[in-house]
Amino acid sequence: MAAATVGFIGLGQMGVPMVRNLLRAGIAVLGFDLNPQALAVLADAPGFAAAGEVAQLTQDCPALVLMLPDSRIVDALLWGEPPAAASAAGLAALLKPGQLLIDMGSSDPVCSRDNAARLAALGIGFVDAPVSGGVRRAVDASLAIMIGGEPAAVEQAWPVLQALGKTLVHVGSAGAGHAVKALNNYVSASGLLAVCEALVAAEKFGIDPKLVNQVFNASTGKNNTTEHKVESFMLSGGFNSGFSLALMRKDLQTAQGFIARMGTPGGFAAHCLQTWVAAEAGLARGADHTAMFKFVRDPE
Ligand code: NAD
Repeated sequence: MAAATVGFIGLGQMGVPMVRNLLRAGIAVLGFDLNPQALAVLADAPGFAAAGEVAQLTQDCPALVLMLPDSRIVDALLWGEPPAAASAAGLAALLKPGQLLIDMGSSDPVCSRDNAARLAALGIGFVDAPVSGGVRRAVDASLAIMIGGEPAAVEQAWPVLQALGKTLVHVGSAGAGHAVKALNNYVSASGLLAVCEALVAAEKFGIDPKLVNQVFNASTGKNNTTEHKVESFMLSGGFNSGFSLALMRKDLQTAQGFIARMGTPGGFAAHCLQTWVAAEAGLARGADHTAMFKFVRDPE
């Protein structure tokens, strides 16, 4: 494969449209996913090749992007700790000095800071570059990307990130991107929960929730949920935004843990997290995060 081929691990809801945008930008991609069906989705895309095993990416790609569910999986992959997906030694042992790892999933900032230090000791660059905007903005390459890492590593990652997002902000050293991402999702999840509680109460009073949401969108209650989720994914009954409730709960847990570690006020975050944990337990496995509306409407 060409020298500039990017390795991409994690071809799920976000990974697939992101890979398509790399290809559109003329960047060849060697992809890997544990799930062969995920790999098959991109099989016919020009410029894309599927790796039979993850180790192949370390041979052919100067930069590797991770778009995986969480830090537990990232750490297992990198260091060979259970449940490892790469070789027993882990992916890090196969990387060579000068290669770059870009973690674009929503990982834990403390784990990412540790990973950056351990990789730096091996001469391997690390950038955390989580994204916001969901599947919709992954598809049209307009993601917001919050970036943590050393300036030289960030510069190396820039062409890849530029092909995927519209607003790229270098927020600090390694782990800072993941911290901002978790905090963003805390703000987003609390806004979504507030909207659900408000709509369900209004409905019980006899007001059409669609009208309530229209009023919110013309008023100070407007937020990302009222603008992009209520009609399309909640009132429609579709509950299919492409972002699972389990991943949102994970992000909230990360944010709440981060706030606790900082020793700054976090009572509201703790309370919000409790409701998301209850919703995950109460809803079907694999539920979309917009199904919070269903949970608030009918918690039984
Ligand atoms: P997803 O579950 O749809 O995709 C994850 C993919 O990773 C799956 O295809 C899975 O098979 C693969 N995978 C898991 N473990 C693996 C391993 N060890 N080796 C190789 N492949 C492995 O998740 P997603 O919705 O695409 O989210 C990915 C990340 O992006 C998460 O951290 C999530 O929090 C974040 N995120 C998601 C959204 C969204 O709207 N879906 C938005 C912003 C950020």
